[in-house]
Amino acid sequence: MGEFDLIERFFQRPSRRAVLSVGDDCALIQPAAGQQLAISTDMLVEGRHFLSTVDPARLGHKALAVNLSDLAACGAKPVAFTLALALPRADPAWLEGFSRGLFQLADAHGCELIGGDTTQGPLNLSITVLGEVPPEQALLRHAAQAGDDIWVSGTLGDARLALEVFRGNCQVSGEVLERARVRMECPTPRVELGQALRNVAHAAIDVSDGLLGDLGHILKRSGVGAQMETAWVQGSAAVTPDVLALPWPRRLDCVLAGGDDYELLFTAPVLHRERIHALASDLEVPVTRIGRITAESGLRVMDPHGQPINRRFASFDHFNA
Ligand code: ADP
Ligand code: MG
Repeated sequence: MGEFDLIERFFQRPSRRAVLSVGDDCALIQPAAGQQLAISTDMLVEGRHFLSTVDPARLGHKALAVNLSDLAACGAKPVAFTLALALPRADPAWLEGFSRGLFQLADAHGCELIGGDTTQGPLNLSITVLGEVPPEQALLRHAAQAGDDIWVSGTLGDARLALEVFRGNCQVSGEVLERARVRMECPTPRVELGQALRNVAHAAIDVSDGLLGDLGHILKRSGVGAQMETAWVQGSAAVTPDVLALPWPRRLDCVLAGGDDYELLFTAPVLHRERIHALASDLEVPVTRIGRITAESGLRVMDPHGQPINRRFASFDHFNA
């Protein structure tokens, strides 16, 4: 199978929203009148972001999911994406699974594949997504204000639990491992929640490198600090029973610094509490209040007895891991 057969067979579909899709030198998109384009790129590298043994359909899902998560964090609506793919070989069974997982998630969000590049090489997937957002309504990292509540969607720490098992640092198996593994390999981008938070949240980010590290990005950009009690790590909608079963220090690591969660971390004025609970419950996504933005800079994390937790939580940094 040659390069062009491969593209035609696995990645070319009739264009819908795009004026011109896969097959020419460029794709053409007509942006909706008055909308801004939100654009983001994320790359997945074998051995770095996933294991060679991962199910290709889950990999197709994840490659797009991590990109949709960035659109979600900005409150943008997905429109289209491009796919740059380096493959060691053209394996039809692998490509079938990969493209199935990819298109299933793409179709669920009305996000169309409009082009890309395909080359032979070590397995590497790079996707660029395009979304739409009304001017001035994108949720950004710099807009947190003192007094804001800090919220997180979904649950944290599950992907890290799976990683710790694969690293041999933690022993769980059976259904517990499978649930954690699904969260690691098939994250759910909070696309609808992100859009619903326009004009409600002040600042937002998606949790990809770990909660505290990603919160740090909001604090730095916004020129504020934060205070976080950790009673919610002892039991709340943000912690699954599987993660709750971990001993406290490991649980703190997974929840506060786990990474690969792809949940939304956002700040919002106190007066929007009820509204946030209502919109999240409409979307059937749990949301949990985990702290408060302070005018004083720095991040203060307290244990459930109100004592400061001073140990370091390493957030994921590719050049400092
Ligand atoms: P060019 O040489 O002009 O850059 P290519 O020969 O690389 O174009 O690609 C041919 C067409 O196939 C282009 O429209 C490109 O966007 C598309 N394409 C290539 N790889 C992929 C892929 N993995 N997924 C979707 N479209 C792809
Ligand atoms: Mg060309």
